[in-house]
Amino acid sequence: MKLIILGPPGAGKGTQAEKIVEKYNVVHISTGDIFRANLKGNTPLGIKAKEYMDKGLLVPDDLTVEMVKDRLAQDDVKANGYMLDGFPRTLAQAGALDQMLSEQSDKLDCALAITVDYKLLTERIVGRRLCKCGASYHVSFNPPAKEGICDKCGAELYQRDDDKEETVVTRLEEYDEKTLPLINYYKDKGILREVNGQKDIAEVTADIYAVLDDYR
Ligand code: ADP
Ligand code: ADP
Ligand code: ZN
Repeated sequence: MKLIILGPPGAGKGTQAEKIVEKYNVVHISTGDIFRANLKGNTPLGIKAKEYMDKGLLVPDDLTVEMVKDRLAQDDVKANGYMLDGFPRTLAQAGALDQMLSEQSDKLDCALAITVDYKLLTERIVGRRLCKCGASYHVSFNPPAKEGICDKCGAELYQRDDDKEETVVTRLEEYDEKTLPLINYYKDKGILREVNGQKDIAEVTADIYAVLDDYR
């Protein structure tokens, strides 16, 4: 299965991606996670990406596409397929992905869009807490058993630098202007599937499983 997961910041992409991996065993490729790993490691890519990420702006397409190309060339994606989370985010990136796939006579099975009213997103994002193991929580909507500690691995949770209210405004504007057109792009290709992301986390997961079972 090859899919992309689309939706505004805070829609629940990362949360649901964990559940999708559990059931379908696809490789989870999050461009946000890869950028953050580069930031942490102070790599040349990380240094370039930081100035955009700190402001809540999208990293330029050429840097992003190159990074995804490298990732998709690795062996692990060949066995069970993959799920791209946070990529593509512009029409140019979507075109580049189509190009990469068609060079291998391949295509996407599904573009899964999680829809959530913008009004709900800020609260979700500022309450988000993460673990270095990849788990994601929310202080009120999905709290860990012990405050500030990961249920899965016991490590201390942290908040992302760009999950502050000031940055969230810019991130939502970027989404609206540059990423939203992808919904129609994939609708036109006939592979768009939408789920309502405003229900409880477990209900959204069940709806997603009902959709993705079509592609097994
Ligand atoms: P969220 O899941 O909250 O939407 P991400 O972790 O996906 O956030 O992305 C964090 C930041 O990383 C973005 O604000 C942007 O600066 C950068 N980024 C991630 N993916 C892309 C992409 N495909 N194109 C450009 N920038 C990206
Ligand atoms: P994204 O990757 O799309 O930016 P996340 O999966 O990180 O979004 O979710 C953003 C925040 O909202 C997290 O703190 C998460 O625990 C919480 N969250 C995710 N899905 C839901 C939901 N259906 N209802 C309430 N809160 C949710
Ligand atoms: Zn953990």
